[in-house]
Amino acid sequence: MLLAGANEGSDGGVTLATLSEAYSPTETRFRPEESPFTTLFADITHRCNMACRNCYIPVRDLPDLPVDWLYEVVRRLPRRARIRLVGAEPTMREDLPDIIRTIRALGHIPVVLSNGLKLGRRNYVEKLKAAGLHTVYLSLNGGLRDDLYLAIDELACAERKLAALDNLLALRMHVTTGTILVPGVNVGHLPEFIDHLLGKGVRDMHFRSVGQVGNYIRDASFTLDELEAAVRGALRPEHGELRLLAAYGSSRDFALGRARVQLTQWPELGSLERGRIAPDGMVEPMFESIVANEHRY
Ligand code: SF4
Repeated sequence: MLLAGANEGSDGGVTLATLSEAYSPTETRFRPEESPFTTLFADITHRCNMACRNCYIPVRDLPDLPVDWLYEVVRRLPRRARIRLVGAEPTMREDLPDIIRTIRALGHIPVVLSNGLKLGRRNYVEKLKAAGLHTVYLSLNGGLRDDLYLAIDELACAERKLAALDNLLALRMHVTTGTILVPGVNVGHLPEFIDHLLGKGVRDMHFRSVGQVGNYIRDASFTLDELEAAVRGALRPEHGELRLLAAYGSSRDFALGRARVQLTQWPELGSLERGRIAPDGMVEPMFESIVANEHRY
C-alpha cells in the first residue's frame, strides 16, 4: 500500500518508489492505525559520516526519506509513541530540528540515535533541544579510548564522542549510552568506562553483542550470559549491586544504583515493542525488518 505522496509523480513520490523498491517487507506488518509498537524507528537518511565495522545498515546509495510523508504516517498512529529518528546518521539531515519539532507537535516523543560526532558542538545540541529533543541514544563503542574506537569504528573519535556526552548532560538531556561489546577488544576497558559514566551521572546504559547482520566483526558475538558476566566483572564495590529487574528472550534490564543497565543479544527477534516504519507506509517489527533487509535498505 502506498500512502499519499508515494505515487504522485512528485520528487517525494519518486523517492518513496525508490525506497520501496529496495525494501523487503516482513511477514508481520500493520497499518499505522493498528500499530502495537511503543517505539517506532524512522530511517530518515542513509547517509553517514562514519564507516564502522559493525553496522546493520551499511547501504548508502538510497535517498533521504521524504518527511511530509513521514508526518502523515506518524499522524495515523493510534497512541503516543517514541519516534526514534535513525539513519545511518540522523544528524546528516540539515532539517533535523524541523523534524524533531514536527514529531513533537504531532504529539509523539522524538528520540535521536546518533554516533555523536556532530553533537560535540554545543550550539548544535542547543538547537536540537530548543526544537523539542529531550532524549538521545549516543553510541560509545570505544568508551574513553581512541584505540578502541579505531578498532571497532575505524575512527579515532573519543574526544568528539565525550564532548557530545558532556554537552548532552550539561543541557540536562536524557542520555542512553550504547556500547557494542567486542570480546578481546573493549571488555577490559569496561571498569574504567562504567566508572566514568556513573561519575558523569549517566542513568541509562545499554550494552549489546555484535549483531550478525549487515557489516560486522566475525566470530565476535557474546551471548546474553556472556554480556552479563562481562558487565558484572567490570563493577567495583562502590558501584553497588547489579539487580535484575526484568528478563526477556534477548535482553535483560538491571538496576545499578540509580542507573539502569540494559543488555541485549542483538538482533532482538520476536519483540512487538520496537517497530520500523517501512517505506510503503506499513509498520513492522524492527529486528525482523533489519534481517529481511540486510545489505538492501
Ligand atoms: S553504525 Fe551508525 S555511525 Fe557507524 S557507520 Fe553505521 S550508521 Fe554510521
